Amino acid sequence: MSLTNSQYDQIMRIYEQRQIDNEHRLREHYREAYARIPSLKEVDQSISSLGMDKARRLLEGDLDALASLKQELARLTAKKQRLLTDAGFPADYLERSYTCPDCRDTGYIGTEKCHCFRKAVTDLLYLQSNLQEILEQENFSTFSTDYYSANHIDPVTGRSAKEAMQTALKTCRAFADHFSERFENLLLYGDTGVGKTFLSHCIAREVMNAGFSVIYFTAAGLFDIFAKCVFGRRSEEDEETLDHIYNCDLLIIDDLGTELSNSFTVSQLFVCLNERILRKKSTIISTNLALEDIQEIYSERTFSRISSNYILLRLTGDDIRIQKKLLNLGGTKDAATH
Ligand SMILES: [Zn+2]
Repeated sequence: MSLTNSQYDQIMRIYEQRQIDNEHRLREHYREAYARIPSLKEVDQSISSLGMDKARRLLEGDLDALASLKQELARLTAKKQRLLTDAGFPADYLERSYTCPDCRDTGYIGTEKCHCFRKAVTDLLYLQSNLQEILEQENFSTFSTDYYSANHIDPVTGRSAKEAMQTALKTCRAFADHFSERFENLLLYGDTGVGKTFLSHCIAREVMNAGFSVIYFTAAGLFDIFAKCVFGRRSEEDEETLDHIYNCDLLIIDDLGTELSNSFTVSQLFVCLNERILRKKSTIISTNLALEDIQEIYSERTFSRISSNYILLRLTGDDIRIQKKLLNLGGTKDAATH
């Protein structure tokens, strides 16, 4: 992913701030521990002078002395930890702690950007606070199949809404759990208001928490950006947005079919989905359209890309939003599963 200089600086400032906070926290811990445990400072001084001694012996090549120094150092370190725990502190209270231990809050592992850097980029660019709020509420722990009827039978598959949702939930969980090792795509399609967007939110949250970059768009929002990039005067920012759309670890396109489609949106969708398949980057699409409609509206070649590269999950049922509302108004679960 490419960034403008000012965006890059903004992220590096976050890392600098983290390092400053770490340093500050460590000093604060020392101050507190020294105040409460008078003998601790002495032990620390012995440890640091032993450390210097060790370095000198190492230079002199005195290996015998080195072994006994090491032993003494281990003994003092254990003593220090015991002093801390006896006084009610955690044993590692005087060690540095990092938000990301992998890069020690520098953003880099050697010359490579750390995984947390990639996440910082999407946090900066795309995680509008409203999505974060939604993800607090809509995640796997809050998802319930109780709302789905065992009696509502899908005429196409012969399965109940409940069965279909249980299968979908399992597939979505596996998708999120194996995200790092598998290249998979999902098409969630079927009736309106049966939880397709909710499911994509569940996955988004898990994948984001695992440190991957996730971009979420409604189809209308996505096509707006395409139009801006093709017809408008492309700014550096637009270029980057497009680049993120093609390269982010997971792209979620919500509510495909609600945008105004034309030959332009049709060809842009193909390019986008095709690029992501070539780059082995996962995509989730949710839509109220039936498969035949997707084929008809978005062309045969787009449909064939989807049908051969995506897991297709068909969801049906009564409108869950209505059912939930009924429950909130004081109904019972039985009312929802009638
Ligand atoms: Zn890191």
